[in-house]
Amino acid sequence: MNSPVIVALDFPAAAPALELAGRLSPALCRLKVGKELFTRSGPQLVEQLQGMGFDVFLDLKFHDIPNTVAGAVRAAGELGVWMVNVHAGGGRRMMEAAVASLQGLDNRPLLIAVTVLTSMTGEDLRELGYTETATERVLRLAALTADSGLDGVVCSAMEAADLRRARGDDFCLVTPGIRLAGDSADDQRRVVTPADGIAMGSDYLVIGRSITAAADPLAALEKVHAELAAST
Ligand code: C5P
Repeated sequence: MNSPVIVALDFPAAAPALELAGRLSPALCRLKVGKELFTRSGPQLVEQLQGMGFDVFLDLKFHDIPNTVAGAVRAAGELGVWMVNVHAGGGRRMMEAAVASLQGLDNRPLLIAVTVLTSMTGEDLRELGYTETATERVLRLAALTADSGLDGVVCSAMEAADLRRARGDDFCLVTPGIRLAGDSADDQRRVVTPADGIAMGSDYLVIGRSITAAADPLAALEKVHAELAAST
C-alpha cells in the first residue's frame, strides 16, 4: 500500500476514532493520531489501529532536550508507528539525537520535523525576536532538518514547491490544509485540493474533516483517489 493520503483522526476519544477507522480501508489511507487522542487513549489505541492494518503517523511534535526527545522517538519506533515528528526549533543536537535513537530498529519510522507552525503570523515571529520572514525561516529550518539526517518536514502546500526545489526529490513533504473541491475550509486559512497538493510537490496529504466529517467517509476517501488518478 502506498497511498499518499493520511487521514487525521482528530477525535476526543478512542471509540469514535475506531469507528471511523473501521469505515476506512488500510489499502486507501494511513491514519494520523495527534496530541488530544493520544493523551486520552495512548499507545493501546495506536496498537489497535495498527492491528486493523493501518500505518500510523504519531503527530506529537516532540520538542525538548535531546535526551528526552530521543527517548520519546525511540518509544514511538518501538510502538511500530510508520511516521513520527519533532519540532525543528529544538535544534540540531535534538534532531540528531532523535535520528540516532532509531538506529537498530527493524522497521524504522519516517522521522519528520515541523518548521514554523502555520498558525504563526509574521507578527508572532517578530514578537519572538525573529527577523526572518516565515518563508525564510521555513527554508532555514528545513535545511537544518535535512542536515540533521531527518526524512522531511510538515509544510503547507504553498511552501511545498520552494522546499522541493531547495531540498530535492528525496526529502519527504507532508501537507495538511487539504479540502475536496466544494468542502468548507473550516478554520484553515488557505486550502488546496488533493491534486493541487501533489502537483505542488507534496508526498503525503493530511486530510481531516473532508473525510472524517463526510456523511460517507469511505466515499470521500475514494473521491480523493479518483481526483488524484484523474490528475496524473
Ligand atoms: O480537518 P483538517 O483537514 O483541517 O485537519 C488537518 C489536520 O492537520 C489536523 O490534524 C491539524 O492539526 C493538522 N495540521 C494542520 N496544519 C498544520 C499542521 C498540522 O492543519 N500546519
